[in-house]
Amino acid sequence: MAEENTERAKPRRTFDSAYGFSFSIAVGLVLFITGLIISLTVGQGTSIGLIFGIPLLVAGLLIPMFMVRDLFKTNEIREPCPNCGDTIRTSDATLQLRCPSCQKVINVREERLYLAE
Ligand SMILES: [Zn+2]
Repeated sequence: MAEENTERAKPRRTFDSAYGFSFSIAVGLVLFITGLIISLTVGQGTSIGLIFGIPLLVAGLLIPMFMVRDLFKTNEIREPCPNCGDTIRTSDATLQLRCPSCQKVINVREERLYLAE
């Protein structure tokens, strides 16, 4: 839909993507460990532990992959501030930011900037 030519900015590790990356790893780790504990403790000798544990183990491996894949297709947004009109540069991985010129809180949704109430 967006006709404007998106600049091919060299992939830089912003705080947001670095945070998202470690967050997805942490989520995967928690699921993996939970699944491991359940399958080792609750289901000793029975299949209950495996029924609940194995899906958690698999989810712990797959969820970080999906989340990390999403991080790599983030686009750079360059939109005027809805309040002061100053051009703001951010990525669509950002959910909320503060305008550097007028200090208003701005929400980022679908590559557009909205003034937060
Ligand atoms: Zn502004």
